[in-house]
Parts: sequence; C-alpha cells; structure tokens
Amino acid sequence: MSQTFPLTGISSVAIHGADNHHAESSHVTPIYATSTFTFDTAEQGMERFASLDKEKIYSRWGNPTFKNAEETIAALEAFGLTDAAGQPLQLKALLHASGQAAMATLFLGNLQSGDSILSHFSLYGGTYELMHKVLAQSGINIIIADLRDLNIAVETIQNNPSIKLVHLETPANPTIQCVDIDAITKLAKAQNMLVSVDNTFATPYLQQPFKYGVDFVFHSTTKFLNGHGTAIGGVLIGKDIELMKTKMWKWHALLGGNGNPFDAYLLITGMKTLELRMERHCSNAMIVAKFLEQHPAVAQVNYNGLTSHPDYHLCQRQMTHPGALMSFELKGGLDAGKQFIDKLQMCVRAVSLGTVDTLLSHPASMTHFSVPREERLKFGITDGLIRLSVGIENVADILADFEQALAS
Ligand SMILES: *Cc1c(COP(=O)(O)O)cnc(C)c1O
Repeated sequence: MSQTFPLTGISSVAIHGADNHHAESSHVTPIYATSTFTFDTAEQGMERFASLDKEKIYSRWGNPTFKNAEETIAALEAFGLTDAAGQPLQLKALLHASGQAAMATLFLGNLQSGDSILSHFSLYGGTYELMHKVLAQSGINIIIADLRDLNIAVETIQNNPSIKLVHLETPANPTIQCVDIDAITKLAKAQNMLVSVDNTFATPYLQQPFKYGVDFVFHSTTKFLNGHGTAIGGVLIGKDIELMKTKMWKWHALLGGNGNPFDAYLLITGMKTLELRMERHCSNAMIVAKFLEQHPAVAQVNYNGLTSHPDYHLCQRQMTHPGALMSFELKGGLDAGKQFIDKLQMCVRAVSLGTVDTLLSHPASMTHFSVPREERLKFGITDGLIRLSVGIENVADILADFEQALAS
C-alpha cells in the first residue's frame, strides 16, 4: 500500500490493497509466466536465498503474480483490525493451487503423529476426507463434535490435551450451520491450542475471524473470491508472520502446492469486485430464501438469515449479513428434488458455489457422496436436500425459474 491515509472501504482495499507498482508501468498485475528468475550476480542469488521472503528464485517458492493476490487477500482479512499493540493487523497469505492444497499445508504443517484435531461435524466433503483418509493414516487423531453446543465444546477441549488445532468451518456446508468463533477461540486459547477458520462461505466481506484472535484463516478462492468460476485456488493466511514465512511456507513449497500465474491473475481480477458482487449475492439470497420459505412445495429452508434457522442469532452477531448459501428440502423428498433440479432453465446444475450465476446441487449424490449415509444424516444432509448458491442475476429471473420448476 502506498497511501499515507488509511483506506476506509473494503472495495478500495480489494483494488488498491496490494503493491500495484508493476514492471514496464503495467496498469494491471502482469502474468509472470516463468518457472525461474535470473540473478545478476552470484551474490544477488545468495542474498535472495538468505532472505526470509525467498522472492525471485523459483516459482514453486513464489512468484510476483501470486504475491499480488496474497497481499490483497491478507489486506482484506486484516481490514479495519488491529493487533495487541493497537497497530493495523499484519497478516501473511500463501496462495495455493487449490483449497485442498492450502488445507494440506495447514494440517500437515501444524500436526504430527499423536496430535489431535478437533472440528465441528458439518464440514466440506473434501476437508472431511482429508482428515479421515490422509491425517488419520499419519497417526493424527480426528475428534468431531457438535461445537454449536458450548457445553460439549468445553468438555471436549478440556478433556483432550492432545488437541493441537481446532478447525472451524462457519457457515458450514450444506446446512449453513454456524459455530461461535469468539467463544470457541477463547476456550481453545485457554488450553494453548491453535485455531483455524474456513472462511470460504462468508468471505472477509461478511466475517473476519482474526477479530477473535484465531491463528489461521483458510479460503477456497475458487468460490466467492474469484467469483466467476474461472480457476481453482486456495489460500492460507496467518498472523504469525515468521511462522508463515518459515514452516508454513516450507510445507507449502515441499508439498508442491503452488498455483499458476494465470489462475492468480484471474483471482486478482475477480477480487476487485468482491464487495459489489457480495452486496447483490446477499440481497438476492434474502429474497430467494423468503420466497422458498413461503412456497407450498417447500418443506424446509436452511438459511441463517431466517429466524427459523437455529444459528440465526449467532449469525447476526458474527457476520455482517447471512450470505448467499442456503439449502432446502421439498415436501416430495428425493424425487421431487430431482424433478425440480431437472426443470431449471436459467439457474445452473453444478457443484461449487460463489459464482456470479446461481448454482444448485444435490449433496447426497454429489458433494457428500463419499460420506457414509448414517454420518451424512447426522449432519442434516438428508436424501432430498438441495444446496443453492444464489448468484447475482436479476432476482426476478431467479424467482421465475424457481416458480416454473416448482409447478407440478
Ligand atoms: C470448495 C471448498 C473447499 C475446497 O477447495 P478447492 O478449491 O475445491 O480445493 C474447502 N472448503 C470449503 C468450504 C469449500 O467450499
């Protein structure tokens, strides 16, 4: 950032939060499609290797296009927050090839055999599998509890001193359950545990977990941050800058989780309109949720912006708006759900979320197919549940498409 005055709006940060002085006076961030970087002298090469930043050496280790995206995301998550000394909060982000790659760095960089990880039971399918397949095989113990119940959280955290990391996903896929970041972080910190938050559904526009003293924030940038469905990506952000530049960077580089400059460029372009898109995503979602709630064919709507959702009050406290994700069940169950999805004419049948277009999917047969049925039912993922990511189309057209698809 080169301004001497603080930026007061999140769009200004999304557009100007990174260092935007580029080679050849380029207006936008160039795509540095290069695997390696040249050294003028052996001495210069030595200096770059010796530096904590490891810049301009080799693109698995870092690249100027990645750096621009990383600085922007760090600035967004830190926007308006201060550290213990009252200074603007400093964060360090590491861009990865995918959310899963960033999650691997987070988990494998912080956990070792004999450690436990604690998480809530409603999780992204890939996170659940990474824990139960990869971490479990490495001798890491997985503890899953209903962390919305603070009595259970207290008991679990106090009775399991082997817990090293508490990983929260809020709001969570696909029932839009929320966990109390502030309360859980206080409990975890009293036992010297690390806390990470998957902030993919909320984005820093709706929720800033670092406000509550968490250690790490994670995003699948594939979703709202990119916003246009043009690239897979993930980011790990940390407040311990030295840890991020040493151990976390090392694990990232050794696991080979680097993205590519073109995808980083698409992400940078997408992030500039984050606030504009989120405003429309959010206002459309509220209208769609109310439409579904009153529709005679709909049995239940899970949207944390409706007073009927169990986490409505927590969401009001923790987020600036409930966001654009919801799920719902039709009275006709699985068959009616399939019929509805097949009849859609404008809205899109696809997994993923957070894109400009409205996307619908069926968790039981798609995103949560690999989660055993009994497990998935415990998470509230019933056979007929439909997951909906409300886009930024004109809302009347979303409603018209739903209306015709729900008509029998
Ligand atoms: C998509 C997603 C991930 C995984 O990210 P990828 O970019 O697909 O690897 C993790 N967490 C949540 C909440 C997600 O939506």
